[in-house]
Amino acid sequence: MRESQSRKTITLIKGDGIGPEVADAVVKIIAAAGVAIGWDVAPAGANAFEKCGTVLPEYTVDSVKKNKVALKGPVGTPIGEGFKSISVALRKRLELYANLRPVKSLPKINSRYQNIDLIIVRENTEGLYSGIEHEVVPGVVESLKIITEKASTRIAEFAFQYARNNNRKKVTAVHKANIMKLSDGLFLQCSRKVAEKYPDIEYDEKIVDNACMQLILNPYQFDVMVLENLYGDIISDLCAGLVGGLGTAPGANIGNEYAIFEAVHGSAPDIAGKNLANPIALLRSAILMLEYIGEQPAATRIQRAIEKVLEKGKVLTRDLGGTATTTEITGAIIAEL
Ligand code: ATP
Repeated sequence: MRESQSRKTITLIKGDGIGPEVADAVVKIIAAAGVAIGWDVAPAGANAFEKCGTVLPEYTVDSVKKNKVALKGPVGTPIGEGFKSISVALRKRLELYANLRPVKSLPKINSRYQNIDLIIVRENTEGLYSGIEHEVVPGVVESLKIITEKASTRIAEFAFQYARNNNRKKVTAVHKANIMKLSDGLFLQCSRKVAEKYPDIEYDEKIVDNACMQLILNPYQFDVMVLENLYGDIISDLCAGLVGGLGTAPGANIGNEYAIFEAVHGSAPDIAGKNLANPIALLRSAILMLEYIGEQPAATRIQRAIEKVLEKGKVLTRDLGGTATTTEITGAIIAEL
């Protein structure tokens, strides 16, 4: 197999639960595709807490800053012990303001719809994920939703620029400005202002509850969707469900300087350590990463290999209706390369 010319160093955060299993699978497949990557393995999550006494060691943040790009498995956040989400902390510290989640049907996957191809652009740094909560008096808590003109404009710019660069026709802003008139109102105002600069791209708006119903009734009406943080989180799981579930749904966190590629799913403790996890979600995130670093031919080869395995339908993990293990589906994808 042809090896790419220059060896790149990329940070690898294997994470918790099924993270190490799917990360090891993806590393093997990328090597089999002939891409020369030196992986700088960096800890984060519950495993890092056990080894280093902190869920997000400085080494890990520094490694991403140095290498600019990371591939990340899911991390577990210990609940109720005062830990903040590591993924949220990484996104904030590295200003990874755009969470890109392509939703695309794969062949032969048993799902409600075929040929879905839409893009979710989720604001990643504020909204209800600001993590500012306090108890006002016993029995009453406040959780603050922060919406700024800067972050709303930046995410709308990202969505429209993505649409233009990728030959997409329409951007839909999703909101609840009828109720949250100031916060979601500002988000909408910023989206509208940016939309004016892109007359070649159609712009429309949907209230979030209606957007959920419309996605179930007719997902083909959507192209690029831009959403603030919490709506993006919920709608991307809904969309993963439209095209076959979390086992295949990829994602990327992108900022101006750094990018971290990670699947939509969590650490799936129910199947961790059992060799049952589907590595395709992280693998498709790695495909986005390969495109980002200019390894388009390898990205295309891996995508085709995934499609061939799914078309044959013989080696499928349990979430896809089969009985194959993580090791078996990894082997099948490598064989198709
Ligand atoms: P988080 O809160 O961390 O996002 P979550 O509550 O969304 O996590 P997941 O860990 O993503 O939960 O798991 C949800 C369900 O999907 C579980 O039943 C899990 O086994 C399944 N699942 C998630 N990822 C995969 C995968 N890669 N392969 C197979 N099944 C998966």
